[in-house]
Amino acid sequence: MTIAIYPGSFDPITKGHIDILKSGAEIFDKVIIAVSYNVNKQGFLPIETRLDLIKKSVENIPNVEVDSFEGLTIEYAKKKNAKVLLRGLRTSFDFEYEMQLSQTNQLLYNDIKTVFLITKPEYNFISSSAVREILFNNGEIDAFVPKAVAQHLYSMRYDT
Ligand code: ADP
Repeated sequence: MTIAIYPGSFDPITKGHIDILKSGAEIFDKVIIAVSYNVNKQGFLPIETRLDLIKKSVENIPNVEVDSFEGLTIEYAKKKNAKVLLRGLRTSFDFEYEMQLSQTNQLLYNDIKTVFLITKPEYNFISSSAVREILFNNGEIDAFVPKAVAQHLYSMRYDT
């Protein structure tokens, strides 16, 4: 059974992330989407909220698990008996960064390989940071994030 970890900040999860996750779930027996966090670095959404929104957005994909971890991704992956780290690629900027990250992880532990998937063109420009920026500027985010995420983000806007 091949287990893949799909690590990231997912702050918040977007349709681009879901696209990569769905493709990963078709290839691997199990994909664990894992929110990485650092207690000293506060993101935009609290970890519990990110996890809750991910759970709501992936409930129709049977072989996906949702989790969170602190520390090195590779250590977490070892603990979960994963053989693969799944990452998404959008642009050549992603590529530069992801190549270095993957090579660093290879040096740390060569038995876990990084697999890259390319997103569909319609999701290519979507990023969590763009979603946050549009939200702060009162724009519409429905095209970028799953329904449950949009509902939550709009409710935050009306709360403030
Ligand atoms: P990180 O903070 O680790 O970059 P992100 O939550 O931003 O975490 O992204 C997690 C993974 O998803 C990364 O591999 C990133 O390249 C990929 N990703 C982010 N947005 C998209 C998208 N729109 N299409 C495909 N992959 C994406």
